[in-house]
Amino acid sequence: MANPATFDIAVVGGGLVGAAIGYGLARGGVQVALLDEGDIAYRASRGNFGLVWVQGKGLGLAPYSNWTQLSARRWPELAALLRADADTDVALEQPGGFHLCLSERELEVRVQTLTRLFAQPGLEAYPFEVLDHAALADRIPGIGSAVVGGTYTRLDGHVNALKLLRALHAGFGKHGGTYLPNTRTERLQSSGGRFVLEAHGTTLRASKIVLAAGLGNLHLAPQVGLAAPVRPQRGQILVLERVRRFLHHPLATLRQTDEGTVLIGDSQEEAGYDDTVGLAVLATLADRALRTFPALRDVRINRTWAALRVMSPDGFPVYEQSRAQPGAFLATCHSGVTLAAAHALELAPLIAAGDLGPRLQPFSAERLHVQKAT
Ligand SMILES: Cc1cc2nc3c(=O)[nH]c(=O)nc-3n(C[C@H](O)[C@H](O)[C@H](O)COP(=O)(O)OP(=O)(O)OC[C@H]3O[C@@H](n4cnc5c(N)ncnc54)[C@H](O)[C@@H]3O)c2cc1C
Repeated sequence: MANPATFDIAVVGGGLVGAAIGYGLARGGVQVALLDEGDIAYRASRGNFGLVWVQGKGLGLAPYSNWTQLSARRWPELAALLRADADTDVALEQPGGFHLCLSERELEVRVQTLTRLFAQPGLEAYPFEVLDHAALADRIPGIGSAVVGGTYTRLDGHVNALKLLRALHAGFGKHGGTYLPNTRTERLQSSGGRFVLEAHGTTLRASKIVLAAGLGNLHLAPQVGLAAPVRPQRGQILVLERVRRFLHHPLATLRQTDEGTVLIGDSQEEAGYDDTVGLAVLATLADRALRTFPALRDVRINRTWAALRVMSPDGFPVYEQSRAQPGAFLATCHSGVTLAAAHALELAPLIAAGDLGPRLQPFSAERLHVQKAT
């Protein structure tokens, strides 16, 4: 019998990024351990907005748009696999999504942004529509007169992100993965061609390691010759009580969940590691939501929360294999829901093969050093 503390691959971090990679690896027949710190850690995966979103992403790095599009296209396959492996419907819907604007100026900036996005060389363009109030009112009944216009792309969608996290873990277990909760990895080193992980009083060995510890990567990565210059960015979300289905498309900042609740979000705040909610930001979110859908005035707020995004300096993902210690990989991004399909079905096989290949080369952290130097 194999030594239980020796694995082909150890994935550090059991949030959406680590769980998607772990699931993809385990499905491929790799012997994987998934180590997670536990409830005291900052966990974006339990506080996010649940969009599978393509529209507008990739301004400044065209390959990010292409990677996001690939993930959105492969999402139905991931959802079907999770239904089979985890007996869970993650409530994926991809009916296309709207970005609504509450002033002419907002609409102008929005259209300029998308135009600049699509002008980038190497970007796989996708159609988008610019709609005025009347055209929007036909497609989204109930919008308020404050909505002057918006943009639509048919690639966008949403999912139940908590069911997704649970299903990835269940699928991982179904394929023989070993989950180690409450196991904070403290030290990493390589010895005799293997990585040795010291975690919560135990020692594990693995031929490869994947650092997918969200904000925890900041301190883990340098131990294996990698850099993960991530910072927290706070987002606040309001949850309204369940109401009859009135919204059939996700909006960038408001969506109705499969369970009938309405999520309103999500702010982008530089607040360090402070993950508490604040009335001023929540009031702004609520005000915009009411101007978008005046009928929500009569719907009660059930909950609010704040969570911390895992942000790189330029906002794009970092995927990298250590040059100094080959076999050590880093994976971090700020759209782990959207990219779950790419992580499970594209990234995991590349990690198993030991080479991230040309598609992921633009996501190396080297680009960040270049930026710092100029
Ligand atoms: C408000 C908000 C809204 C968002 N909305 C969306 C959205 O609509 N769509 C979308 O695609 N994305 C969205 N995101 C982003 C998405 O939630 C994140 O990209 C994703 O959750 C990141 O997952 P992660 O696994 O990298 O990090 P985390 O969820 O933070 O998980 C990291 C895990 O690593 C573990 N860990 C840390 N250190 C260690 C250690 N030393 N040893 C072992 N384990 C460790 C922690 O316990 C934790 O479970 C949103 C995020 C926020 C905060």
